[in-house]
Amino acid sequence: MFKLPLLIAMVITLAGPAHGYGNAGHMAVGTIAEHFLKGTRAEREVRALLRPKEGLDRAATWADRAKLPDKYLTEEMKKFVANNPEHHIYHYCDIPFQEKAYREGITGTNPQDIVHTMRNCIEILQNPEDKSDNRLKINKRVALMLISHYMGDLHQPLHVGCSYLDEEDHFVDPETGAKGLADAGGNHFRITTTTSLHGYWDTQTVKLAHDDAGAADFVEFLVGKFPPTPEWDAKGPVTTWPEQWATDTLGLASQCFDGITPTDRVLVPKDEKEEEHFEWKVKLPAHYPNKSRDVVEVELAKAGYRLAALLKAVWPEK
Ligand SMILES: [Zn+2]
Repeated sequence: MFKLPLLIAMVITLAGPAHGYGNAGHMAVGTIAEHFLKGTRAEREVRALLRPKEGLDRAATWADRAKLPDKYLTEEMKKFVANNPEHHIYHYCDIPFQEKAYREGITGTNPQDIVHTMRNCIEILQNPEDKSDNRLKINKRVALMLISHYMGDLHQPLHVGCSYLDEEDHFVDPETGAKGLADAGGNHFRITTTTSLHGYWDTQTVKLAHDDAGAADFVEFLVGKFPPTPEWDAKGPVTTWPEQWATDTLGLASQCFDGITPTDRVLVPKDEKEEEHFEWKVKLPAHYPNKSRDVVEVELAKAGYRLAALLKAVWPEK
């Protein structure tokens, strides 16, 4: 009985919109990483791959800019898109928020998800040669820009965790055998006609944190308020770090659904952007803005620090 909607939901989950932190969030991650890279070999390697006036802040928005209509794309982006027609799905995974860890093959993971794609980017950066004979068919420069972006996405709780709803619109965990429809990382939960829960976490939370400060002041605030702690560091080979960090972010995903009750399920017909799918209305509890802002501030600081840590692991001091 659930089969068809579930199949549709799976298709939507793969094809649906997912943007990640807006430009302000991604750029903050890139600038924070540059702060922690100062004076290192990794900083020099990054500089050699980027263009003269291009910083990691700009690099960190490349993967989203590559989603724009063809007429806005650079030749470099066009090549990437042609070789990676499913690049939209590289930005996330959809693990049931009740789960405790990212595990290979679990509901909401796939070989093209954010963790696998980040791992591929690391391998490309680690390779002594700069060749494009990899899964993504990209060179080191594109791998650097992609990972600078995905690092931000990996720290947006709804890019890792997702809710699944049963026929009565209750949250279920498909890993326990229950069947449910995916909310596409909150994309199918409407707060207003123009804002989804996912969009709220991508941009509203960053705006709440940003509070009209300039980009430089925002980064200074984040770096000053949230110095790195030992828990921010991953263990073992660098190719396993994205998986560890996905698990860390998944721990926050349940908070995104805390106090949220989906209601008014409607079937949305297929249009040029999405397949047919269900959407629900949600109302944010009073504590939600402050709580989500607090989460996002730490996550942005963490993502910037971790991007630098990853690049220093790829290019250790000689
Ligand atoms: Zn993204």
